[in-house]
Amino acid sequence: MKSPATDIDLPIAQVITCTEAEGPGRRFALWFQGCPLRCPGCCNPEFLPFQGGQRIPVATMTQWIFQTQQQQAIEGITLLGGEPFAHAFAALALVRQIRKRNLSVMIFSGYTLEQLRQRPEPEVGELLALTDILVDGPYIREQPETQRRWIGSRNQQIHFLSSRYRFDETWLQRNTLEIRMNNGTITVNGFPAAQAAGLWRGWKRKKPLPLIPQDK
Ligand code: SF4
Repeated sequence: MKSPATDIDLPIAQVITCTEAEGPGRRFALWFQGCPLRCPGCCNPEFLPFQGGQRIPVATMTQWIFQTQQQQAIEGITLLGGEPFAHAFAALALVRQIRKRNLSVMIFSGYTLEQLRQRPEPEVGELLALTDILVDGPYIREQPETQRRWIGSRNQQIHFLSSRYRFDETWLQRNTLEIRMNNGTITVNGFPAAQAAGLWRGWKRKKPLPLIPQDK
């Protein structure tokens, strides 16, 4: 396999540098632009086209993550979609870098682990090997999750692919929804209770977030 380099670009739809709504602890969350799946009720339809978003070099993103680690004590990154495994080569290049600082890796994928293990691309296998937690499977609107924190629908499985994390009470606490206002733009992340769905529609991402802070 050609080795993923740090000068290749990540197609990015959104970044939240420090969140507690996308997995254990404080995490740097990164949404890819582009998903080949079409789950009815997908929370992020604007992230489905492979066009759009911003192209950010792996080296720039790595520096941003390491800076956030120093400033906000994040313990890992979370990759979401769009579909991270539709961008496995670029995602692997990033994960190889951030592993050098012992940051953990969590991925939400619309594919099942079984499907991913059957994929022939070596970058998919290596990305799985460097992942601590995989939440797999498509989002099924008719099966909303009500017990497990951070999970969208009941069909989705949590796979602990390393010994770094395990299923404990933090996975059973109330779900977390974060709302931010930044320069007049409101963003929402995390998975809301079913009765709260739709509350923020209309003011979600009326214009794209500036992905790179002004001081970078
Ligand atoms: S896999 Fe995720 S991003 Fe893709 S359509 Fe399904 S819910 Fe949306």
